[in-house]
Amino acid sequence: MRKSNTNATAQTLYIVIPCYNEEAVIQETAKRLLAKLDKLIQKNQIDKKSRAIFVDDGSRDDTWKLIEALHKKHDLLGGVKLTRNRGHQNALLAGLMFARGNADVVISMDADLQDDINAIDDMLKAYNNGAEIVYGVRSTRAKDSILKRTTAQGFYRLMSRLGVDSIYNHADYRLLSKRALDELASFKEVNLFLRGIIPLLGFNTATVEYKRAERFAGESKYPFRKMLNFAIDGITSFSIKPLRLVASLGLGVSGVSFLIMLYSIVIKFMGSAVEGWTFTIISVWFIGGVQMLSIGIVGEYIGKIYNEVKARPRFIIEKEIH
Ligand code: UDP
Ligand code: MG
Repeated sequence: MRKSNTNATAQTLYIVIPCYNEEAVIQETAKRLLAKLDKLIQKNQIDKKSRAIFVDDGSRDDTWKLIEALHKKHDLLGGVKLTRNRGHQNALLAGLMFARGNADVVISMDADLQDDINAIDDMLKAYNNGAEIVYGVRSTRAKDSILKRTTAQGFYRLMSRLGVDSIYNHADYRLLSKRALDELASFKEVNLFLRGIIPLLGFNTATVEYKRAERFAGESKYPFRKMLNFAIDGITSFSIKPLRLVASLGLGVSGVSFLIMLYSIVIKFMGSAVEGWTFTIISVWFIGGVQMLSIGIVGEYIGKIYNEVKARPRFIIEKEIH
């Protein structure tokens, strides 16, 4: 375990913010982060090399231009531009891996100010007390829409039912030490679900609670369809229980078919075998449905393997300003 940093020299902190079409919020976010960094530097809790790094995930609006302008005005703000949109998780990873080369400790957060910036102080405190990973956990989700809240919480419960070690009500607002980042770098998976990977690292961890705010401006970049894909991705990347489910389903249906066989024989000997059209139709559709569902689930995993085997790069960086 790392020794406590309480009396150590100030650390270099990088804050990583993935941004996709965030021109509506980025200036306000930058302003607040800048104030936070300034304050922490003044209090000597972090050193002057600390930065806030905005990762432009192939935005189609003026996000990158704004990042460049911010960088020109303030040394503490920097940016990484990906060549195209790769999705939140890949953009976040790009930022983390970039920060890894420069920082002692990294905090990742969303661009829309839903994550309370003041939790950074508590995260650093926990880090100084020896935590390598600090999870930001939402104490309330009152500001989220009912749809978002219920689906998200249902998802966390399902994940834990399926045996996936994820942190309840934690998204991607977290602190990672350089050591944790170094270990994270050795995870090469293409189907990236950081919320599942980070707990696998182990290490000494802590949690910090914060109130989840409303999106400051602009629209959510996670419509329902994307959220659903993300959830399926998370489950199939970390659990093979759905495959087991298919197997038990097969077993169950076989059991039922045995009973039906006995029933048919009895009917046959009683001399009334022609009846049963309804029963036949239902069986055909039922078995068909079960089979297709099962093939679909198996196919989902094969798709995963397909992507992993090709091992294409998860992101390509076009520019770094820093
Ligand atoms: N994001 C990204 N690439 C994408 C989609 C989203 O980098 O393809 C970023 C987005 O800019 C934001 C974060 O991921 O900083 C979370 O997105 P959002 O706030 O829209 O999601 P929500 O809070 O509604 O779940
Ligand atoms: Mg958001």
